[in-house]
Amino acid sequence: MNMPDASSLTGFANNPLDRRSHLREDAAAIEALKATGHVLVFSMDKPVAKQGADGLDALFSSADAQTLGVAPDLYLGLLAGRGVYAGITALDEEALKARGLAVVDLRSLALQRALSPERLAMLGQARAMLNWHATHTHCARCGTPTDIAQAGFRRECPRCHAQHFPRTDPVVIMLVVHEGKCLLGRKSVFPPGMHSCLAGFLEPGETIEEAVRRETLEEAGIRTGRVVYHASQPWPMPFAQLMIGCFAQGLNADITLDDQELESARWYDVEECRALLERSAPDGQTGPAHFAIAHLLIRAFVDGQCPF
Ligand SMILES: [Zn+2]
Repeated sequence: MNMPDASSLTGFANNPLDRRSHLREDAAAIEALKATGHVLVFSMDKPVAKQGADGLDALFSSADAQTLGVAPDLYLGLLAGRGVYAGITALDEEALKARGLAVVDLRSLALQRALSPERLAMLGQARAMLNWHATHTHCARCGTPTDIAQAGFRRECPRCHAQHFPRTDPVVIMLVVHEGKCLLGRKSVFPPGMHSCLAGFLEPGETIEEAVRRETLEEAGIRTGRVVYHASQPWPMPFAQLMIGCFAQGLNADITLDDQELESARWYDVEECRALLERSAPDGQTGPAHFAIAHLLIRAFVDGQCPF
C-alpha cells in the first residue's frame, strides 16, 4: 500500500471531484448535467447545509437549489458521474434558517469536523472560485465587465478579448527549528492564546526557499540554512491560497521581533509543542487547529519527523 501524502492529512485536501477539464468547453453537456447534478449553496461567503441522516450535508439537488434562488453557473467537476455546481442563494440567512437550513462559515465547519474531509474540500474549492468571480467582475486590462466562460474556469473580456483565469496565491509557512526547539509566533488576529508557525506570501521573483528565508528573517530576525518542503494545503479563506509547508533550519537563537507582524515569538521544545497541540499547556496557550497545515508541521516536529 502506498503511504498517503502528508498533504492529504490537511483540511480542504482530498477533493473527490473529477474535474474533467475538457467538459468545460462543452456548454451543452455542462447544462445537461445540471438536471441530475448536485449544487453547493453559499449565503454570501458561508456554506448552506441541511440536516442529513449522518449530520450536516452540503449537497443539494438542482431542484432544491432552484427553490433557494440559486443560479448554479459554476461547474466544479463530477462526483460519481454527476455534475457538481456552486452558486449563491438569493435568500438571506434568516430565511434560510426558517427553512431549517444551517448557515455556517467554512472555518467552523472544519473546526467542528461537521462534514467529511471530501465534502469540506469541495466546499473549499467552491468558496475559492465563487470569491474569485465576485472580485474579478471587470477586465484588469481595460475595465470592461467580463463574461463567464469555460463553465466558470475563465472570464473573458468582450472588448479587448483578454482571458482571465482563477488565481491561487502561494504562501510559505515554515517551522523553523534550532537546537531541538522550534520557533512559534503569535499574530494579533489569531484566536486568544494561539501560537503558530511563521508564514507569508511568496513574492514575484522568489523561490520557495528564498521566501521562507526572507520571511523568517523579516519577522523574527532568524537566519535560516536548509529549507525542506513537507506538505501543502489549499486554503480558501478569504481568497484562494496554497499553503506551502516547510521545515527551515535556524542558524541563530536570538529573536528580533517585527512587532508590526507578530505580537510575540519564542522557541518551544517538543514537550511544550505537544501540550499546545493537545491543548494541555498550563498557561492556556494553544497551537493551530487540527485541520491547519501548521498543526501538521508541529506534529511532525513532536513525532521526530523533522529532518534536522
Ligand atoms: Zn478588456
